[in-house]
Amino acid sequence: MTIGCARCGSPAATVMTFAYPQSAVWLDDLSDVVVEVYSYPLCADHGDRMTPPLGWTLTDRRTVTRLFAPVNVA
Ligand SMILES: [Zn+2]
Repeated sequence: MTIGCARCGSPAATVMTFAYPQSAVWLDDLSDVVVEVYSYPLCADHGDRMTPPLGWTLTDRRTVTRLFAPVNVA
């Protein structure tokens, strides 16, 4: 079974999960999670372009792709 991206229908590589009580969004590898009610499969492209709603925090827990490297500003 192939899970398609919720945006474009391409094969999904990432799962985006909303946690409404915490105002948090997670990106996980597709293989790591069971797709639940508040989870949306996304292809790699749409996963990388995901921006959280205003005031929400986005945590990228994917191991395959690290879009946001830690940045230290002096
Ligand atoms: Zn897509």
